[in-house]
Amino acid sequence: MNIHEHQAKELLKKYGANVPNGVFALTVKDILEKAKSLNSQKLVLKAQIHAGGRGKAGGVKILNDISELEKESNNLLGKKLITHQTGPSGKIVKRLYVEEPSDIDKEFYLSCLVDRGSSKIAFISSDQGGMDIEEVAKKNPNKINTIKVDFNKSISDLDCEKVIEIFDLKPDQSLEAMNIVKSIYKLFIDLDASMVEINPLILTKQGKIICLDAKINFDDNALFRHPEISALRDLNEEDPTEIEASKYDLSYIKLDGSIGCMVNGAGLAMATMDIIKLYGEEPANFLDVGGGASKEKVSEALKIIISDKNVKGILINIFGGIMKCDVLAQGVVDAAKEVKINVPLVVRLAGTNFEKGKDILDKSGLKIISATDLNSAAEKIVNEIK
Ligand code: GDP
Ligand code: MN
Repeated sequence: MNIHEHQAKELLKKYGANVPNGVFALTVKDILEKAKSLNSQKLVLKAQIHAGGRGKAGGVKILNDISELEKESNNLLGKKLITHQTGPSGKIVKRLYVEEPSDIDKEFYLSCLVDRGSSKIAFISSDQGGMDIEEVAKKNPNKINTIKVDFNKSISDLDCEKVIEIFDLKPDQSLEAMNIVKSIYKLFIDLDASMVEINPLILTKQGKIICLDAKINFDDNALFRHPEISALRDLNEEDPTEIEASKYDLSYIKLDGSIGCMVNGAGLAMATMDIIKLYGEEPANFLDVGGGASKEKVSEALKIIISDKNVKGILINIFGGIMKCDVLAQGVVDAAKEVKINVPLVVRLAGTNFEKGKDILDKSGLKIISATDLNSAAEKIVNEIK
């Protein structure tokens, strides 16, 4: 789960990291009122969307004084921001954040995430902050420093020193930066975060180290332990079909392609997406209906796939293990009673109760193209939509 920048900064502050003073609001009237409490003539107005790259897209405005706030807020609220992270459809700005500005001397990059390969926590730091870190990684890989740290209650001073070494700071500034690393580490462990990214972390002209931007992702599987974090979820920022899918406990991720996929098991779902690409098309979604899915769940899954306007064909690829093929088949037939399936449907079933499943589909009157293996299934659906 993602949260907004202002929420991330609030959490960082609670854990002792320096962040600028700021206020957020959902309306222009509210932001004008709240901004009065800030202690500065100049202000920074920032669009709050779950995507980075706002600066370049006009989502970060530096204002000379509060008199500019009304006009700029009116401009920004409700505006569609298209950044390199939103995709071409962009994101509508529904909340605003106003901060006291900072005088930037240097911009750094600092992030922390789970490194599955080593079962450790990786800190990534760079003195090339403020810009697209993927670009830095490509062009100047030696400007990026990765330090792997053990899971523990706290991080050692030595590890903190290694993380901030690349910033090349004066001694008192180094201490401040180390404190921020400690705060991030503690927050990461305490709150079951999966990523904390500060880009940029800045050195101000006054010699202070401040988190100027902040992004935090949380491990969905641990959210039950943190109701206060779950409460920060902003459904406005999520894809409506993904919200619908999460109600039924389906692992669904919307993608941009044209072939809807319904699969059981994450590995098989990945393989199915790969093979669709191999035959020259793109998957419209990732969907794992799970091991012991009920026919209701299957039916909801199919309805979600059909509701995607980009879907030109559907591939159902089920390996019946715990999931039984007849349950799947009944789910498909039930969904078809409620919503019309007017795109080609290829079904490949194998495993438990395969015969029963095939029988249900054959007698359903639905126009189904059957396939016996994954290769021919992918080939068939790709040919159908040509
Ligand atoms: P992003 O583009 O979505 O990653 O948004 P950021 O919060 O990182 O802001 C983008 C850029 O705006 C930063 O890299 C800074 O260069 C600039 N910026 C943001 N806040 C301030 C500020 O308080 N003072 C100054 N001078 N620049 C700022
Ligand atoms: Mn940023």
